Amino acid sequence: FNVPTPANEPVKEYRPGSPEREALKLALQDFRSQETDIPMYIDGQEVRSDRKLRVAPPHDHQHTLGYFYEGDSQHVNQAIEAALAAKDAWANLSWEHRASIFLKAADLIAGPYRARINAATMLGQSKNAYQAEIDSACELIDFLRFNVHYATDIYRQQPNSSPGVWNRLEYRPLEGFVFALTPFNFTAIAGNLPTSAALMGNTVVWKPAYTQVLSAKVIMEVLLEAGLPNGVINLIYVDGPVAGEVIFNHQDFAGIHFTGSTGVFQQIWGTIGANIHKYKSYPRIVGETGGKDFVLVHKSADSDEVATGLVRGAFEYQGQKCSAASRAYVPSTLWPAIEARMKQFLGKMKMGVTEDFTNFINAVIDEKSFKKITAYIDEAKQNSQVSIVSGGNYDGSKGYFVEPTVLKVNDPKYRTMCEEIFGPVLSIYVYEPSEFENVVKLVNDTSPYALTGSIFAKDRYVIEQVSHSLQNAAGNFYINDKPTGAVVGQQPFGGARASGTNDKAGSALNLYRWVSARTIKETY
Ligand code: GLU
Repeated sequence: FNVPTPANEPVKEYRPGSPEREALKLALQDFRSQETDIPMYIDGQEVRSDRKLRVAPPHDHQHTLGYFYEGDSQHVNQAIEAALAAKDAWANLSWEHRASIFLKAADLIAGPYRARINAATMLGQSKNAYQAEIDSACELIDFLRFNVHYATDIYRQQPNSSPGVWNRLEYRPLEGFVFALTPFNFTAIAGNLPTSAALMGNTVVWKPAYTQVLSAKVIMEVLLEAGLPNGVINLIYVDGPVAGEVIFNHQDFAGIHFTGSTGVFQQIWGTIGANIHKYKSYPRIVGETGGKDFVLVHKSADSDEVATGLVRGAFEYQGQKCSAASRAYVPSTLWPAIEARMKQFLGKMKMGVTEDFTNFINAVIDEKSFKKITAYIDEAKQNSQVSIVSGGNYDGSKGYFVEPTVLKVNDPKYRTMCEEIFGPVLSIYVYEPSEFENVVKLVNDTSPYALTGSIFAKDRYVIEQVSHSLQNAAGNFYINDKPTGAVVGQQPFGGARASGTNDKAGSALNLYRWVSARTIKETY
């Protein structure tokens, strides 16, 4: 059977007075006016522990959105047992019956749950309405629909046969359970990591970031309403090392689907390596990690396009995207025009709570993040080799607000040009056009990461040469566009080097990692 190529879910605009804005306002009010109870979900059942932790909006930490229940190693074990118990029935359920559940989940988000999941993302993760819409609505819907489409293609791939011989490939799920460890910054990624593995017939233990539990709850509500059988995805809130201790020592651990920091991923990889003799199979390790994403501007570029790309690429969602533009290389000939235009855009950008539909910039996710980002800003202020082009102020009293900050650095290897900050800080190195060749080398060598990057140029020879020289410097490479905002089905997303295993989310490349194929030869 065929699943038609899906179209991307259209992005709603939330204009004043539109039905979608009115529905979203109600959903925001609904979450605001009560304390939401956020249980774990193990074997389809709500599970509560005696450790209740408070959830507050990052932009208004006095307000209580609700409470979630922190589990311990017993809950991890229960989740694994539930996943293993559900495994055979789920793996043996015919493919179209698995797929239907995820297609229905996509429709539920597109329709009745759209306002609720966006409101949860806006309040819990401090996104503006547009950033929530492109994430928890459109991208998550696209992941669910496109994965079904790609999986159908995978299942259809069969080897050749000959007279008297029928060869078949059976795309079995992995033997054991999959662990999904998901980040706060995209509700879509949090939803995709467990569901993509589950779609291919695996059962999953899902541990989200503590800063994403409100929208994680909504994802679980959707999946259960769509008919996901008990135990297929088990959602637990457990401290990382506590969960890791149980999971990475378990003989049935079959794979990890991860998005998060490079440090944590490397540590996990090391633990899996050290425990390798304990497992029945070699676990699949799939991870998307950090980035230090570049924007390289050539003197032939259009300065307005560059300014727009830099502002949007660096500051949408407060720069908390692995793909965010965080280091830029700008020729001195274009700098005055780009600087003026950026300042003009930034001057108009309002910062504040998410519920006010006019604020473009909201808060960063938590205190730890706020302290890390502002330490970089403070250090830059002290350094005579760095000038603050824009921003530089912050205020953590009501929420974790940090102004979009543009730094101009004299040293292209200054730490803000090399280290991932994961916040609204863009560093710019202004070079002489004659230095261009060297700057291309700098782009390649300055950071260990290779997630995203952009070249802005009109000169086609330059574009070709740079695409070639930087072929390993970015898993997602953009020509005359910002390095963020990959769309499922259009720009499969993932990075290499220290940025991850490059198993492109939202593509067949990723789904192949969740199957362990059996080749069958039958003669007759
Ligand atoms: N896919 C997102 C983008 O293209 C980034 C994902 C991430 O931050 O992990 O902007």
